[in-house]
Amino acid sequence: MQINSSSSNEAGDSPVLFDDLKLCQPIHDALHTVGYTTPTPIQAQAIPYVLEGRDLLGIAQTGTGKTAAFSLPIIDRLTREPRRSRPGHPRALILTPTRELAAQILENLEEYGCNTELRYAVIFGGVSERPQIAKMQAGVDILVATPGRLMDLMGQRHIKLDRLEVFVLDEADRMLDMGFIHDMRKVIAVLPKERQTLFFSATMPQAISQLASSLLMDPARVEITPPATTVERIDQSLMYVEKTAKNDLLVHLLETSASGKTLVFGRTKHGCDKIVRALSRAGIKSAAIHGNKSQNARVRALRDFRDDSLMVLVATDIAARGIDVDGIQTVINYDLPNEPESYVHRIGRTARAGRDGQAIALCDASEQKFLRDIQRVIGMKIRCNRDHEWDVDHDPNAPQHKQGGGGGGRGGGGGGRGRGRPHPSTHNRNRPSRHRR
Ligand code: AMP
Repeated sequence: MQINSSSSNEAGDSPVLFDDLKLCQPIHDALHTVGYTTPTPIQAQAIPYVLEGRDLLGIAQTGTGKTAAFSLPIIDRLTREPRRSRPGHPRALILTPTRELAAQILENLEEYGCNTELRYAVIFGGVSERPQIAKMQAGVDILVATPGRLMDLMGQRHIKLDRLEVFVLDEADRMLDMGFIHDMRKVIAVLPKERQTLFFSATMPQAISQLASSLLMDPARVEITPPATTVERIDQSLMYVEKTAKNDLLVHLLETSASGKTLVFGRTKHGCDKIVRALSRAGIKSAAIHGNKSQNARVRALRDFRDDSLMVLVATDIAARGIDVDGIQTVINYDLPNEPESYVHRIGRTARAGRDGQAIALCDASEQKFLRDIQRVIGMKIRCNRDHEWDVDHDPNAPQHKQGGGGGGRGGGGGGRGRGRPHPSTHNRNRPSRHRR
């Protein structure tokens, strides 16, 4: 996948090729195989510092190419200083908040390090720990881990960090949001003093900068603001609707305007499952990914979504964070997030790799505060689409309902389509939907 490499900082503007970064030959060959020629701004800026052995504070989010920004120089360092890793003693640890991110980082490491002798492993919860323990005992150079399972296996003495050379803390802000601060502290407490630390976070609230300064020694700082064009390329719209009519509106959207691969965001795990069931009743195939799903179910859903055999994926923020799937055309915020930053992350799943995309937000009366916060953070009013059967007026000064909350047609008034609630089969006949089974 090619990613937009424009950034707001100077180093990003100077064109550099991977050939200019003094990475070892096996990495160059691997990059050639995966088809990367130009480093992204975070890579162009961070890699030279990391190769020098400096600590790094990277302010960047998923989608900027930050995985390669830390993986490539780590592979380089460990390859240039070959050392047999002892059972249970990784040489590098990458700590990341979610299983999906962990699995994706491992996938990248295996790609970038395919021409080296290094051994990689990933450990996360929700699956049997036995194969993970066996892998650790066989010797692992670079370990990717989520905090919970790492703590378990450290507690059982299957993993020891006293010989660690490089420590990466990925998505530190999200770690904090997800309540991993205690686990993180315990891990940090056992790290050797002599080490290189790379710290990544999309945002830098005070708690994060305190954590960063307790971990980093004279770090180089690299900050990548997401290219504004990403958000500009997204056609954002907003639809007011009663909570109880959201399913009907969603079905309607998936049958009409929500073209292509669609990611639907729900607030809770249970809510996501309910959405999937409602879509299924309407004959639309979808799958949910969230923390209660087995690892196998999540991997399967993601694989199907990637290869286009599943066109609608329903996810919570946490499960979707960092999902790297190309070609998502539509993001639907079924529930508005209570953190405005999450809205930006969510809609950033579309319009990747220079493509256009659309983001549709469904807003019920209870979500108006969230909407106000979002609009303040993105610095614009989201275009409101009132041209739908389920439209209600959430303006507190206006009459309550434009029409009866999804219960029937608008009777041709108010600029609507002038027909009753669309019947799925009618839609199906008129416009075969890609989402239908
Ligand atoms: P990340 O932010 O690490 O999740 O990376 C986002 C996506 O960009 C992944 O699909 C990477 O494979 C891809 N990518 C990373 N670096 C490059 C590069 N230099 N050129 C093209 N694609 C890249």
